[in-house]
Amino acid sequence: MNKLFLFDIDGTLVRGAGPQHAAALVAAIRQVLGVETTLDGIPVHGMLDRDILRDMLRAGGFDDARINTALPAIVAAAQELYPPTCPDISAKVLPGVREVLSEIRALEFPIGLVTGNLTRIGWTKMERAGLRDFFSFGAFSDMGATRGDLARIAVELAGVSGCAVTMTGDAPSDVAAAKSNGFRSVAVATGLTPRETLAALQPDLLLNDLSQPEDRRALIGG
Ligand SMILES: [Mg+2]
Repeated sequence: MNKLFLFDIDGTLVRGAGPQHAAALVAAIRQVLGVETTLDGIPVHGMLDRDILRDMLRAGGFDDARINTALPAIVAAAQELYPPTCPDISAKVLPGVREVLSEIRALEFPIGLVTGNLTRIGWTKMERAGLRDFFSFGAFSDMGATRGDLARIAVELAGVSGCAVTMTGDAPSDVAAAKSNGFRSVAVATGLTPRETLAALQPDLLLNDLSQPEDRRALIGG
């Protein structure tokens, strides 16, 4: 059976990438619209960057028409502003992540990203985490409206057909995105969502983390 593996970034591959991502969103809005906004009060966990920007702008008093007009320029600005600020985050790679990616690669199955990060933000994090070479494709917030859409787009970008798809993530939105596409869902309790919350969503596999070889074997499957 051919397989394909999709991974979320934040809370799944790395945790605590730093405040630079949020700062880039704030700075992008400042650059395009000349106003100060904040992520305070926005439940960013598991959210797509574009939706986070929309919420920041709504909280700042902008209406949907103004937001829709400004958003493309803000998205472009955020992707320019983030890369020069991203530190080395190789120490933030979660336990067992390098191992599971190496094990999947050794089996020659394609590996891709499905993340709420904007494209250049996501790829930059993977570079600075030392994980870039594991991934041959990815779907990012600027490519679709929902995480479910992004998961489907990622598989299209992989350019393979007839694969059993496994999608791994740390947030309820990752589990929902996998299920909405009929993909096998693996939840890891390495992010902010408690294990019990993930369990209630009934992913196909629920792991504390990827540190144990038997758990990684279960993720990769038989
Ligand atoms: Mg996540």
